Amino acid sequence: MSVSGQESTPAASEPQPRGARIRGDKPIDQAEAAERFLAAPRHQKLHDERLWTLRQRRDGEMWNMPEWEEMRALASAIKEHTLTHLDTYLEMFEAKAKANGVVVHWARDAAEHNAIVADVLTRRGAKTLVKSKSMLTEECGLREHLTNAGIEVVETDLGERIQQLDSEDPSHIVVPAVHKLRGDVAKVFAATLGSDPSDDDPHHLAEVQRETTRVLTLKAEAGMTGCNFLVAETGCVVVCTNEGNADLCANVPDLHIVSVGIEKLVPRLEDLAVFVRMLSRSALGSPITQYTSHFRGPRAGSEMHVVLVDNGRSERLGMDEFWTSLKCIRCGACMNTCPVYRRSGGLSYGATYSGPIGLIIDPTFNSRKYSSLPYASSLNGSCTNVCPVKINIHEQIYAWRKALVRDGETPFVKRAAMKAAGAILARPALYRATIQGANTALAKLPRFVIYNGLNAWGKHRETPSPRTETFHQWFKKNRGGGA
Ligand code: SF4
Repeated sequence: MSVSGQESTPAASEPQPRGARIRGDKPIDQAEAAERFLAAPRHQKLHDERLWTLRQRRDGEMWNMPEWEEMRALASAIKEHTLTHLDTYLEMFEAKAKANGVVVHWARDAAEHNAIVADVLTRRGAKTLVKSKSMLTEECGLREHLTNAGIEVVETDLGERIQQLDSEDPSHIVVPAVHKLRGDVAKVFAATLGSDPSDDDPHHLAEVQRETTRVLTLKAEAGMTGCNFLVAETGCVVVCTNEGNADLCANVPDLHIVSVGIEKLVPRLEDLAVFVRMLSRSALGSPITQYTSHFRGPRAGSEMHVVLVDNGRSERLGMDEFWTSLKCIRCGACMNTCPVYRRSGGLSYGATYSGPIGLIIDPTFNSRKYSSLPYASSLNGSCTNVCPVKINIHEQIYAWRKALVRDGETPFVKRAAMKAAGAILARPALYRATIQGANTALAKLPRFVIYNGLNAWGKHRETPSPRTETFHQWFKKNRGGGA
């Protein structure tokens, strides 16, 4: 899926800001990457506008459906029921899918998933794989694994293909290249596909992608899709796209592999209707995706494999505060509404999942590496309000902050500052003296003493103007309170 936006000027003269710097397992500096994104005003403005447009379209669809809140409650309840009976429904799905002629695999983690896919391809002698968008394969690092094994992987979703050709990860789970200006795309296509670098017409760019990718699809030896929903009672795989590329990947080659997280289950076909109604409305503000395809089994003479992937999901299911994040249907609505995400870009999070839902999921994979992410939120709750499956996103982000402090995963300076603040706030006399001293210092000290490299807080914020009188002094004077 892609959003072309409303760029009024031709090729981008402003260099495209890049994402967070990844240094092994060291904590991601999201604020540093966000600062670079903010320093690119054309990119930042368009990114903000594009996503806000999606949010507004989503609102329009919501107002058109009087039963919206009822649907959210129902979707949330279905997911809750499924997740609390996951073993039963997974086994039901496996039995039905096998009866339909599908080969079902189970992968404990990313390494097992990648090995299974590589093995299926190798046994068939497949050296080329076309695939549709799948965040799970990003999570598992599948493309790199297969490339190292000598298998050519071609993304066929427009946004995902742009990102692949630019050696970047997707910046958004629904619109992977939404952070790019069309001039950025023209440059990437010119460098990799030989198109005209000065032609940044979105229709021409889409045509270049279609013409260059379609031939690869036609001769590919295997196709892969992600999956939006698995239906336990039918053993069906349901994939929703707007470009129809998943259908080509699934139907053109004789081998179709599906990678899917174990949380994507719904019990019955009847339940699916609820999610199909909510997904595209929440994601793009459109009533339905152009293609909602049900893959039940292999075509005559071909093979279909489904890889059911855990990769930390069972562990998350056991986390009291975070298990409901498994209800997520990856619509991206929480990202589109988040003021931090809209202004900092998805790549600033340095993780597969960005935005509000990413702040919950990413630390479950690596709480040290992603320890700064739960702070990339104003906790305004807008994410929770738009979530179609009613995940209490902002409360879980706050819960992560508490968990990170408890586990000692916050920087030393922040810990020391909070300890000092705690000591002051616990002693009223010390608190009053500190406030008085701070007010005097703020009023008298030269600016450079307060705003310098040592004051990380002041880098992004202005300190409020010092008061001549504290509330306590005012209250004592005017109300005679003795507290
Ligand atoms: S957390 Fe909710 S709003 Fe965010 S992507 Fe998932 S389903 Fe959509």
